[in-house]
Amino acid sequence: MCCCRFAPSAIDNLLCLPSNGKMFPFTVLIKSRSKRIGIPRALYFYTYPALWETFFREIGAEPILSNPTDIDTVERAVAVSESEHCLPNKLFDAHVAELTESVDMVFVPRTISMRKGYIACPKLGALPDAISADSSERTDILVVDINENKQSLEKSLWEIGRKLGAEASLIRRASQKALAVMRTRRMATEEPAFVPAVPRFLVLGHPYVLLDPYISGGILKTLNRLVSNVEVMAFSEKMAPDSHILWCTSNKMFHKITGLDQDTYAGVIQIAVFNCGCDSMMIEIFRSVLKKKRIPYMVLILDEHSAQAGLDTRLEAFIDSIGW
Ligand code: SF4
Repeated sequence: MCCCRFAPSAIDNLLCLPSNGKMFPFTVLIKSRSKRIGIPRALYFYTYPALWETFFREIGAEPILSNPTDIDTVERAVAVSESEHCLPNKLFDAHVAELTESVDMVFVPRTISMRKGYIACPKLGALPDAISADSSERTDILVVDINENKQSLEKSLWEIGRKLGAEASLIRRASQKALAVMRTRRMATEEPAFVPAVPRFLVLGHPYVLLDPYISGGILKTLNRLVSNVEVMAFSEKMAPDSHILWCTSNKMFHKITGLDQDTYAGVIQIAVFNCGCDSMMIEIFRSVLKKKRIPYMVLILDEHSAQAGLDTRLEAFIDSIGW
């Protein structure tokens, strides 16, 4: 029997993950009252800024964001998540746990490819199943595939809209607006009003690491106190042509560092996370590229136990040693 709390008089089928973890069609009554759809403030919240909340709002649902990551989120992550996960995945579990009691369903896409010809981290593909195993007793899970190798992001939005029972014209308008808002937000976030002076320091990392105020906020604050010329990697960066690196974000980082020169960049600081398979594969490649360019490189590997004082000491030592 379906575990959903929605009346069966709805218009369309929705694929959800019910408490037994199997996908099956059920119905959502979106026309009678707004459904509260939880969006965890982690992972795809940062890789697709403002997209999901705009889209859900435009089709008549009520998007509910979890709170920004703070120490409570970290403590919840330690309590609810698998200890072997990377930090962003643990925080994601904590954000989902925060939402489950207050929403009708949590949105968890299966991200397989964010860019045609490339793939995403495998953890993101397994996310709906992992969340289903942990949380489907407490909430329904709204799943859609994001796989640019097979279909555009607009098509994925279309599928979500149809699953939620929205009409075709409404979905079209909502997806166009959501994509436009996302593009504007990306430009506002990634194109600073001023270009940092040279030589500058580049900060590398995954978008949900760099943009999460708790994971990277303290590091960026310290860096900006120590030096005035900090550039945070933008994710509108191009891909490295003819590269063997097929992970989309790692490829962009690789492309960025291969274009650096010693006159413009004084150093590169990578904010990596413990137990990240992609980071552990890429760090030695990045180190080798930057060594050839004679650009100093430091990697900070974070987990839920990282203390700001220790990170500050390492940043100060790195900046001082370059100054000497
Ligand atoms: S790329 Fe790394 S940090 Fe991102 S989800 Fe995968 S393992 Fe976690």
